[in-house]
Amino acid sequence: MSDNLVQLLPDAIANQIAAGEVIQRPASVVKELVENAVDAGADEINLIIKDAGKNLIQVIDNGCGMSETDARMSLERHATSKLRTAADLFSLHTMGFRGEALASIVAIAQVEMKTRRATDDLGTRIAVEGSEVQAQEPVAAPPGTSIAVRNLFYNVPARRNFLKSDSVELRHIREEYIRIALAHPSVRFDLHVNDKLDLSLVSGNLRQRVIAIFGKKYRDLLVPIEEATDVLSIGGYVGKPEAARKSKVGQFFFINDRYIRSSYLHHAVTMAYDELLSKESYPFYVIFLEIDPARIDVNVHPTKQEIKFEDERLIYNYLKATIRHGLGRASIMPTIDFESDNPFSPSRTSYSPTMSQSDSEQPLPSKMNRETPRSGSPTPPSEAKRHANNLRQWEQLYENLEVEVDTDTGEVLQSRLGQEEDTDAPSPHGRAPFQLHHRYIVSAIKSGWLLIDQQAAHERILYEGFLQTLRDKPATSQTSLFPQTLDLAHADADLMQSLLPQLNQLGFDLEAFGGGSFIVRGIPAELAGRNNELDLLERLLQQYKTNVDLSSDGHDRLARTLARAAAIKRGTGLEETEMRSLIDRLFACEQPRVAPNGKKCFIKYTLDEVERMFAG
Ligand code: ADP
Ligand code: MG
Repeated sequence: MSDNLVQLLPDAIANQIAAGEVIQRPASVVKELVENAVDAGADEINLIIKDAGKNLIQVIDNGCGMSETDARMSLERHATSKLRTAADLFSLHTMGFRGEALASIVAIAQVEMKTRRATDDLGTRIAVEGSEVQAQEPVAAPPGTSIAVRNLFYNVPARRNFLKSDSVELRHIREEYIRIALAHPSVRFDLHVNDKLDLSLVSGNLRQRVIAIFGKKYRDLLVPIEEATDVLSIGGYVGKPEAARKSKVGQFFFINDRYIRSSYLHHAVTMAYDELLSKESYPFYVIFLEIDPARIDVNVHPTKQEIKFEDERLIYNYLKATIRHGLGRASIMPTIDFESDNPFSPSRTSYSPTMSQSDSEQPLPSKMNRETPRSGSPTPPSEAKRHANNLRQWEQLYENLEVEVDTDTGEVLQSRLGQEEDTDAPSPHGRAPFQLHHRYIVSAIKSGWLLIDQQAAHERILYEGFLQTLRDKPATSQTSLFPQTLDLAHADADLMQSLLPQLNQLGFDLEAFGGGSFIVRGIPAELAGRNNELDLLERLLQQYKTNVDLSSDGHDRLARTLARAAAIKRGTGLEETEMRSLIDRLFACEQPRVAPNGKKCFIKYTLDEVERMFAG
């Protein structure tokens, strides 16, 4: 025996080890074979699976096929017709990158390949087992390639035992299949599982493909997105908020047609939806990014489906903006899509005369401006229009609403509904809002009633107000009779110091005194009365620290946190005028439906629904 300890591994074992990297489970074989078929220019690809791929995975394509030499070569490691330079790794139209897939597969399975180029009379059949070629012969075959992989991991028992149940492995296979099918909607795909047709996808466009895979209900749920610059273009579809699911099932990113995962980009998408989604739900999306391969970091393991790019931040922002734009065009954002949502009948539109001027670019009815702009300049025209439009929609909800406005202060003195609808007798008291359990406000509307969560509603109102103040105008503060001192621990003092400019802008009269002390001379007029100054500031710091939302910029985060800290809490009794004011202000918000944290602000009950409940 040689006394050298270092030896070269036998080829077969080296191949098996390498194979373990590329091929982890049957789904990896599916991915590699189907991607090769796509690369070969096939427009029909047939995938046949038996026993979750443990016993058979076969891919038949009508692509370019291979010559006899190429067929033999393709099974060698690092044999590839595709890789030319590193930049090609993510080049636009080929999936393969290392010439290792086939070599890996033949190392750990029994493989039969039949292939013929359209220009050749005869094709080639090669049978391989554990990297050993068992047979190679001419064969009559249709143009294209068929590769059958049997008994995966037959010679690596540890791996084979490691495989999960058939249903789990099959799920992985379907996932890979769907990803590739989404990236190539013009290719026809058929999937057979245990001799049954499982999913057949005819050639079409992306929209048709998405609907074919995810179901007809997606017909009305897809919002196209599209945007392009020199370095980056974005296309595809995002789902309307209704398409969002509690589980992560419909999220697809493709970079240069390659499926990737990216929690970073996923975050950008979620942020684009903002409050349109509740916290725990995932939006549906199939998004294609085309990026100059030179800008992609290729030093990432190719099978991990992860990717790094230069300008990550830029791509993040661009993606977010693109989706917002798409949702906006589909009237989902920033106003709510009343048309498709159709929560209320648009048939009667007799909102009060005060509101009917809202098409003009006049400053909006004072009702809208009550929150922050006490000292304010008029709302910018475009924003005003948006508000107006939103408001008009809400007015239909609160049909016949009359608002009495104090002409000096712009305060809403009282709002009440004028005529009762249709045939009902007028009932002056019927419409007064009332509180339930010191928690909800019940407010009648034409078609039924709203159940409003007082805290969520107030958070929404404050949040929008704070944001606006931070953006455009300093708020007035209400000076306390006696200045108070807030003593903070070191870290909190630093945080407070960093928030000071924004807090001052929001109307906090606050000054650092040194040694972690701050003098509080006043708080925003909006918040005075209901809140103890020091408590409020401490709550704010506490929540600011826990509410770490990387996405939101400084303004947004502060506005959210402060809204949270200052909103009317559950258990607080409200006067009728307070309730009315809350309702008015809520519906003057840009997004009255949800609180900044995604919780609903109100639920609508219609008489129809209630009637159905009684129907028995
Ligand atoms: P890669 O895809 O990275 O090049 P593979 O091991 O997957 O590496 O394939 C090796 C080569 O075999 C490919 O570059 C291609 O030339 C050829 N090949 C594989 N599958 C097919 C196919 N279905 N049709 C035509 N050629 C194929
Ligand atoms: Mg390949």
